[in-house]
Amino acid sequence: MSECITDGKVVYFHYTLTNPEGEILDSSQDREPLGYLHGAQNIVPGLEQQLTGRSVGESLTAVVPPASGYGIRNDEAVHSLPKSAFPEDMEIHPGMPIALEAEGGAVVHCFIISIEEETVVLDANHPLAGVTLHFDVEITGMRDANEEEKQHGHPHEPGQPHH
Ligand code: ZN
Repeated sequence: MSECITDGKVVYFHYTLTNPEGEILDSSQDREPLGYLHGAQNIVPGLEQQLTGRSVGESLTAVVPPASGYGIRNDEAVHSLPKSAFPEDMEIHPGMPIALEAEGGAVVHCFIISIEEETVVLDANHPLAGVTLHFDVEITGMRDANEEEKQHGHPHEPGQPHH
């Protein structure tokens, strides 16, 4: 009998992520399988949910709606800033993630969506907010997390810097 994925397992899987138009957004196929700690919200909730109870060797297609993926788009999270707000020697380009300090000192993570003549348009939505995600997944491995991993809430792999 094979073990099932439950909280506290470190799970490894290969995935290909496509949008509803069938465009590939991301894939692990040319990398090592992705490892995550199940139950620790290392991956989007909709995918984690659909992996619960699966076992090594299984393949599945998980369709994840925005609400349990990268969130629903909030159009009020799109802002324009004058170009002068950016240091002159800073290289900026569309798609670039950027952290801004909001009033009160909170840090807001944004992506540059376009650069106009006078302004830079920023979006605090995740680039995949509002997108239904299609994950083609193959579960390649599983092990028990150790105590330290459980405390940190993520797997530690040999050869990776400690965090
Ligand atoms: Zn750690």
